[in-house]
Amino acid sequence: MTEFRNFINGQWVATGKTFDNRDPVDNRLIGQVHEAGAAEVDAAVAAARAALSGPWAGLKAQQRAELLHAVADGIDKRFDDFVDAEIADTGKPYGLASHLDIPRGAANFKIFADLIRNVPNESFEMDTPDHGHALNYAVRVPRGVIGVICPWNLPLLLMTWKVGPALACGNTVVVKPSEDTPGTATLLGEVMNQAGVPPGVYNVIHGFGPDSAGELLTRHPEVDGITFTGETRTGEAIMQAAARGVRPVSFELGGKNPGIVFADADFDKAVAGIARAAFDNTGQVCLGTERVYVQRPIFERFVAALGERARAYRLGRPRDPGVDLGPLISLRHREKVLRYYQYARDDGATVVAGGGVPDMPGALAEGAWVQPTVWTGLPESSRVIREEIFGPCCHIAPFDTEEEAVVLANATPYGLAATVWTSNVGTAHRLGKALNVGICWVNSWFLRDLRTAFGGARQSGIGREGGVHSLEFYTELRNVCVKL
Ligand code: NAD
Repeated sequence: MTEFRNFINGQWVATGKTFDNRDPVDNRLIGQVHEAGAAEVDAAVAAARAALSGPWAGLKAQQRAELLHAVADGIDKRFDDFVDAEIADTGKPYGLASHLDIPRGAANFKIFADLIRNVPNESFEMDTPDHGHALNYAVRVPRGVIGVICPWNLPLLLMTWKVGPALACGNTVVVKPSEDTPGTATLLGEVMNQAGVPPGVYNVIHGFGPDSAGELLTRHPEVDGITFTGETRTGEAIMQAAARGVRPVSFELGGKNPGIVFADADFDKAVAGIARAAFDNTGQVCLGTERVYVQRPIFERFVAALGERARAYRLGRPRDPGVDLGPLISLRHREKVLRYYQYARDDGATVVAGGGVPDMPGALAEGAWVQPTVWTGLPESSRVIREEIFGPCCHIAPFDTEEEAVVLANATPYGLAATVWTSNVGTAHRLGKALNVGICWVNSWFLRDLRTAFGGARQSGIGREGGVHSLEFYTELRNVCVKL
């Protein structure tokens, strides 16, 4: 049984109040998490505030970059511990945790360490009314104490995607990981101490959202900015909290992402790509595809091929050989996903594959398993097509023209990501412009260059992070005007 304490000012802090941490594979109790109350949140924010004027503030960008590389090396050195912690919390397959989550966790520190050493700057020389000159130049200063609120689907990856740039820019952070995934954020505290990151620069508080650590953090007046990844509805609540004191927010929110497959696409690659987009990480990826539109000439063949793939996935324990998919994050989340499986039946869907709970052997029967599922035949008005499910499922509908595909794809309040499959370069570029999303993949999915802008349009987010774009949120840009 693991005990997860809060990490405040470089120290491990227990509280009188704990909640259970369960393995979603078999719902076994595996840990106790110390929930932070007002006193611990105050202490964490105070530590982060104090660190802003301690040794951390005196470091040059180059020295911060070296420390962040030491953190990345620390993750690499304890790679197996991080993989174990991520797997224990999420039940995801070993291959996924060891090839995606943990390596990206380390990479997120390296990329922003390298970026901060090479930040471009602007200057403008101007004529003054008295026939003289002045020089304007920009200085980037840290924003201050950053509140970091994270979801459970890619815990270390998404958390370090924020902590990496925040620290590279000289801020301090208070992280509130998801209540379902306390492991890797806690472990990172040990790495921070070993790497020599000064106390108070990285703090972790555990707990839930409303009336708990999440809300206490976002409402805290000493937090200078809030970066959040999670559901759009939660984003609305956090934005209201941030309004007090006019604190800026950076939001990566939900999606209902379209996949569009043209008849001229490489068929096998399109099927494999859409399968990854719909089912990887058991469908719990914000960029995942839950609405697939396939051009009519290949529609029937595509439905049959994707259905076959969905049925072929092997579900099982994270380290069992050949396992492709783990469970959902929790029984609570499974209830939500199964509600949508029921709505699909109620709305008259044809169930091409899955549609329910799989028969799992022994103790696994207690876990949060669902079948990878493919539907056709639903009206576009169905909740299954309009709302984010966040499970291993997708609906496939036919389309005839490019214009029709764009209208269907854009008919949602979300605008996170799209994946388009075609061999026509013109179609690819036209859709790249016409789709109202933050990121459009062509003949690919989840191919990430960390220098590029990442974020969502409309209700999928506010702002962009990645590469130099992260500087917009994690620094204040100050103009200095010198009369010469
Ligand atoms: P969630 O919004 O339920 O929770 C996210 C975090 O917010 C958790 O740590 C939670 O405790 C906290 N929280 C909840 N209510 C809060 C409140 N009122 N005040 C402060 N904190 C609060 O999301 P989730 O279920 O953990 O994650 C799944 C969601 O995240 C999906 O909607 C998915 O699309 C989204 N997501 C988006 C991206 C992206 O990059 N756009 C990436 C991953 C996940």
